[in-house]
Amino acid sequence: MISSIDESVFPGAPHARIAGAGIQAPAILPRSAFTQAAPTAAMMPMGAIERVTIHHSGFPQAWTADDQQLTAEHLEFIRRFHTDAQPQGRGWADIGYHFAVDRAGRVWQARTLLHQGAHVRNHNQHNVGIVVLGNFDMQSPTHSQARGLTDLVTCLRCIYAIVPMAIRTHRELADEPTSCPGEALMAQVRAFRGF
Ligand SMILES: [Zn+2]
Repeated sequence: MISSIDESVFPGAPHARIAGAGIQAPAILPRSAFTQAAPTAAMMPMGAIERVTIHHSGFPQAWTADDQQLTAEHLEFIRRFHTDAQPQGRGWADIGYHFAVDRAGRVWQARTLLHQGAHVRNHNQHNVGIVVLGNFDMQSPTHSQARGLTDLVTCLRCIYAIVPMAIRTHRELADEPTSCPGEALMAQVRAFRGF
């Protein structure tokens, strides 16, 4: 478990400013907690981190498990779906998101922030992708999950000086229509970012 502003999770974090501001990162499970697999191909560098985009996992069935082992297996399932060749999978180099927030509120590291994600087509540069596990057109985030998401976003905002207007959801950025992140999570995001 990584519980401070660790360079392996938050690359390029300006340590002096963070120390002065007393920023506390949420505890974050490293990528190795759900997969031993490396990316399957080279990925584009992220560049400066300037925005955050929030997603749900959005599978047709609700996701309700809060067990850590079941969640690890679910994240590995998502990674395989993203990396398997088309048409079964997406054919991407790695899991598309940088972080996941599970039903118990745990935060998991996924794709490293050194590289652009694959979560909003044509808008991945400078953009942190966070997936909240569940289908929020069918279910609501748990209280712990909403808190985990808020803590992670607050931490990212502090570290990378991200402005409130740059906290977005998939549907707000996408060129193609999508319901992501679902109505219930959309309402939570509106509440915590204030617009
Ligand atoms: Zn999405």
